[in-house]
Amino acid sequence: MIVSLSLEHADGLRLCSQVRSLDRTRHLPIMIIIEPGEDARLLRGLDMGVNDYIVRPVDSNELLARVRTQVKRKRYTDFLRTRLEETVEMAILDPLTALHNRRYMSSHLKTLFDESSQRGKPLSVLLLDIDYFKAVNDSHGHDAGDSVLREFAARVRRNIRGIDLACRLGGEEFVVVMPDTDLAKAYLVGERLRQCIAAAPFYAGERIGTLEVTASVGVAALEFADDTPELILKRADQALYCAKRDGRNRVVADAA
Ligand code: GH3
Ligand code: MG
Ligand code: MG
Repeated sequence: MIVSLSLEHADGLRLCSQVRSLDRTRHLPIMIIIEPGEDARLLRGLDMGVNDYIVRPVDSNELLARVRTQVKRKRYTDFLRTRLEETVEMAILDPLTALHNRRYMSSHLKTLFDESSQRGKPLSVLLLDIDYFKAVNDSHGHDAGDSVLREFAARVRRNIRGIDLACRLGGEEFVVVMPDTDLAKAYLVGERLRQCIAAAPFYAGERIGTLEVTASVGVAALEFADDTPELILKRADQALYCAKRDGRNRVVADAA
């Protein structure tokens, strides 16, 4: 943005400060055009983060060269910012479903676990595993399997609270970590998730159409004084095993 400070009916510096204060335009490069001898206003401009200035009379070649420099710098910082965001995302998100990944889940669960056990508050986890998922891949191909995984993740995310954390552990296995939730409530959430998976078929693309999908769910909660995140997950896994053994498409709560 190029702003002249000798506008008749507007304060150029105010415009600059507004541009700097809005999230959407915070990083926009600003160049001001000043009259000779306007040092005080120039300093104020530089203070508020104006990137460059040019003194009248304006030489068009110089203006062009300086604008190019600003645009180049902006593109480069945008590039760096995007790459940083992508790196951070890649470290904590599962690329297929955009749910958090196993690594993130482990550290987040540890944090929530410490908080909950210190304050004596409940904490639960759901372990979800899609039933006979291998058959989806075998009969319809890996791409169909992938779209089922994406839709599955979307349904889970839509049906939990903002403070619950949904993660893809790997393959067709998912975890939901729920702070402030005891085993009985967690069971109900598990049942709601199970229903929202089984209730409506999954769309797997034009060629295949829709598929019936179900999932089994194991539930466990923070229970004992010497409990650990690993033990809770292990009990959820045992409960999940029982849900599979008892016929799948069901929720089983840990009986410990
Ligand atoms: P169960 O009801 O006992 O859970 O049976 P299952 O077939 O779901 O379980 P199994 O562990 O035998 O198979 C899991 C399958 O998940 C095997 C593998 O091909 C598939 N799978 C794992 N990761 C991915 C993925 O990222 N994309 C796709 N399309 N398939 C995956
Ligand atoms: Mg499975
Ligand atoms: Mg599995």
